Amino acid sequence: MSLPFCNVALPLPLRTAFTYAIPDTLRDSVQPGSRVLVPFRNKSLVGVVLECVQHAPESTKIRDITKALDFLPALTPKLIELGHWIAGYYLAPVGEVFRAMLPPVTELRIERQIALTDSGRAAAHKQAVTTSANQQHHALLSQLAEKGGVMPFASVVKLGWDDAALQRLRRAGLIEIRQSMLGRKAKTQRVIAWKGATGLVAAAEQTPACDAKAEGVKSALQARGPLPLSQLLRVARVSRSVIERMLRDGLLESWEERVDPAEDPFDAGYVPPAHDLNAEQESALKLVRARFELGEFGVLLLHGVTGSGKTEVYLRAVQETLARGKTAIILVPEIALTLWIGRQCRAWFGARFEGVAVLHSALSDVERAREWWRVRNGEARVVVGTRSAIFAPLQNLGLIIVDEEQESSYKQEETPRYHGRDVAIVRAKMENAAALLGSATPSLETYHHARNGKYELLTLASRVEQRAMARVEIVDLREDFAKTHQTSPISSALQTGIQECLAQKTQALVLINRRGYSWSVLCRSCGAPVQCENCSISMTHHKQRNRLECHYCGSLKPIPKLCPKCQSKYVYFFGEGSEHLEERLRKEFPGARIARLDRDTARTKRQYQETLGAFASGALDILVGTQMLAKGHDFQRVTLVGVVSADSSLSLPDFRAAERTFQLLTQVAGRAGRGELPGRVLIQTFYPEHYAIQDAVKQDYLAFYERETQFRRVMAYPPFTSLANVIVRDADLQKAIRWSRQLSEYFSPHDGKGLRILGPAAAPLARLKREYRFQFLLKSPRRSVLADVLSGAMTYLELKEIPETAVLVDMDPLSLM
Ligand code: ADP
Ligand code: ZN
Ligand code: ZN
Repeated sequence: MSLPFCNVALPLPLRTAFTYAIPDTLRDSVQPGSRVLVPFRNKSLVGVVLECVQHAPESTKIRDITKALDFLPALTPKLIELGHWIAGYYLAPVGEVFRAMLPPVTELRIERQIALTDSGRAAAHKQAVTTSANQQHHALLSQLAEKGGVMPFASVVKLGWDDAALQRLRRAGLIEIRQSMLGRKAKTQRVIAWKGATGLVAAAEQTPACDAKAEGVKSALQARGPLPLSQLLRVARVSRSVIERMLRDGLLESWEERVDPAEDPFDAGYVPPAHDLNAEQESALKLVRARFELGEFGVLLLHGVTGSGKTEVYLRAVQETLARGKTAIILVPEIALTLWIGRQCRAWFGARFEGVAVLHSALSDVERAREWWRVRNGEARVVVGTRSAIFAPLQNLGLIIVDEEQESSYKQEETPRYHGRDVAIVRAKMENAAALLGSATPSLETYHHARNGKYELLTLASRVEQRAMARVEIVDLREDFAKTHQTSPISSALQTGIQECLAQKTQALVLINRRGYSWSVLCRSCGAPVQCENCSISMTHHKQRNRLECHYCGSLKPIPKLCPKCQSKYVYFFGEGSEHLEERLRKEFPGARIARLDRDTARTKRQYQETLGAFASGALDILVGTQMLAKGHDFQRVTLVGVVSADSSLSLPDFRAAERTFQLLTQVAGRAGRGELPGRVLIQTFYPEHYAIQDAVKQDYLAFYERETQFRRVMAYPPFTSLANVIVRDADLQKAIRWSRQLSEYFSPHDGKGLRILGPAAAPLARLKREYRFQFLLKSPRRSVLADVLSGAMTYLELKEIPETAVLVDMDPLSLM
């Protein structure tokens, strides 16, 4: 029976869904989970149907759905349930929750396109045309060829072609009609060839003479054959305009070619290591298996020191899941790690890409949508990805693995502010699957649950093959300065260490916590910092890009020659970032092969692959980078890891500062000495006596856990208390103040009744993206108390007509900024 109305979540920051009528013609194609195009105010929006209903609310005028977009509903019923849970638990707008769960195409318009097929392209190039009908066809085909092989359906219609004629060409195999996402052509790439080479046109004799640049292009193409445009630009070192000119001059030809998704050069020649499990791994796996046999939900914590072979346990657990006819998700905290685990999974579980999908944000929208739909269509049964891969539309889920479960990158710091690990546990519960959390340094919350018996604890206490843990040494920067009177971020110990590495032909990793060249800019005369205009935070100097950037809102500024406040010319840059460190290392070790990996150098999958692949294969000696290098990587020839400033995270006003520092340093230490060569770690710090650093040196998780839990218990922080951070924000300061005051009136009667309410106070980031921010911190030992008061607050906002978007709730916040 089909119902006449449906409730649709729209990509808006609102806590409600909207009701639409389903026209009779669409009854069959609109189901819960389907994406639909609907009118909203004077726009068209893509939303997702949450449920079909018999009745519509009477007060409003109900409009019709314009179009159904999916043959197969994008979201499964289980995912809709999960979305509702997220919206409820995190008090997040339902529309934004579902937007985060859908594949990227949802906000793109879909367009019909006419594309040349291979035989169509050949026909377009043929000169001899006999009949007049053929002549007409030929005209269209050459027009298509001229436009690179693809034209929007609408433009073809404008040329006077009707549906029937196009269908004829399609049946003849000359063109295809496809659906595409507007403005996205990444599925195909433009390939350039030297015209003389293909034999299609013998134009070589009448071509104009080539200049030096054109000669470069010519020799590149003659040596390598046709090349994708982007590659040609790199190989021949010319600009796009050179190519365009040569195309106009008839020296080159170009066409669109599909990018083959099954080609990942990264996999070429890769043979996954095959190990027999050691006794510890075996007994961990046995417990996982026992959980599978029970066939019910459960959370397991795999606590294994760095280099203990956790990945091997993950892969076997996935293998057993698949053998039971179920599917699995592996979450990793960094895009870079999807490369290694993705490749291992492809080698283990599927010829080529079959069976394994990889999802993360360095993919283009088209790539991501394609991977997503492969999963939805049941073509992939294992998903490897970062945070949002927890929404992968797998059915019959048996196992969710969360690697490095303590990582803060699992927490989304924009709406919906969910924690990927916690959502993983909830999803596992909904699907009656097992959740396997893994870490060398579990979060206090997780380890606390394992201690209490809420989670099952599996332990790998030693490294594989009894390899030694790396030796960790502290470099006291105060002493170093006293000796050298230098302020270089590379201490003399680190300097010598790197030298030794280079001499032994092993590799070094050098970590620094900030990207950019300098992360602070200050006037020496008047002391004014150069802050972002939209945020109360210093801007970061990027030397290569020759500008200042705000890492919070993305705004850019030219580099000031004079102080914007007092016009003094003594503008001073300080606080060295990764770009600066790379420059220094190049200067100090001129013979070394050095690369840098951070968000500035790696934006696409390809860039990650190039740098990490080069380091792993030994083509680099030193790799400099930010946190993203600290975790998970298994580089076998790294014998030295240097941490330039270990304590910058300690000084943050945050109760998790010690935990974060301990975790980071222990993870970093875990990158050294993983192969047969012993490892050494140098930690530079100003606070060598801090327990987070001391315990990290000993790589003693339990000691740290005991000490830190004491502190949390006394101070009433998680895991002993639930927290919510509530931020009131507006571009107008007066409004932000007024609303904070109103919200405070609502909150204060609740204070003290099983709940502590701190604030309102100016948030540490008092201004962000042009908005003023005030903050309340809510603490309660009982989560339900917190949830009740907060949902009451939402009703109160409505009553007082405070806009929903002005109040932001961060449940279980990781950062209180
Ligand atoms: P972790 O994630 O615990 O830090 P990995 O899973 O990356 O450790 O494993 C570390 C290294 O040990 C890898 O190179 C892996 O191939 C190897 N390894 C795993 N299991 C075994 C084993 N049973 N015997 C020998 N080597 C192993
Ligand atoms: Zn000044
Ligand atoms: Zn900013």
